[in-house]
Amino acid sequence: MFTHLFGSNNHDSEARAQQRERMVEEQLRSRGIGDERVLAAMAKVPRERFIPNEDAGNAYGDYPLPIGAGQTISQPYIVAAMVEALEARPEDRVLEVGTGTGYEAAILGELASEVWTIERYLELADKARQVLSELGYGNVYVVQGDGSVGLPQQLPFDKILVAAAAPRIPESLVEQLAEGGRLVIPVGTRIEQQVQVVRKIGGETVVTAHELCRFVPLVGAQGWEQ
Ligand code: SAH
Repeated sequence: MFTHLFGSNNHDSEARAQQRERMVEEQLRSRGIGDERVLAAMAKVPRERFIPNEDAGNAYGDYPLPIGAGQTISQPYIVAAMVEALEARPEDRVLEVGTGTGYEAAILGELASEVWTIERYLELADKARQVLSELGYGNVYVVQGDGSVGLPQQLPFDKILVAAAAPRIPESLVEQLAEGGRLVIPVGTRIEQQVQVVRKIGGETVVTAHELCRFVPLVGAQGWEQ
């Protein structure tokens, strides 16, 4: 109790910062994540604050973790790889589909000017909004709803990141992308997907396929049925 009241917080946060640095070097940089802005954001955001208490000690582990409502947060490397592929710029307005804990939204909040993030489970959206506000992310807005149809009230978006697996590229998300914009989304079966990058260039959409991945399903009007 006394250690908790008098001083363990500083030790804790120093120890966490060291764990983050190690995670950045051993899990990200060594595996090819090279964008210094992404690495700096991953070294800064306190991931343990977003992870349910019982797993907070595993916050910097090299694996996915349960986050409630039967959902999971990806391992740090996958978050970094998706965010790096998004190429978020300081002036960008970003949409994230699948808020989950809000961790990735915080990373995006470090990299872009404004982040809108949408989550279908109210309990997850509320919790994420609370943690993001405690940490001072005033440029991240959490909305509850079906993100497979995007967020038409706030379009257009320079970048859209989908953190759940889609059966195909949702038409609405492509429509809500600004000219020159970029959508990063796992597409495939419920079991296995491939990260796809969709770019809007001169009114045309260009799709490239990247690494294999495994996400929880995007459930919604332009995703999977329940
Ligand atoms: N980016 C999150 C992890 C995402 S897990 C983080 O940093 O913690 C994928 C999330 O997508 C889950 O929380 C799931 O409930 C949500 N999801 C699935 N389908 C959705 C939809 N149609 N709209 C919004 N969120 C959805």
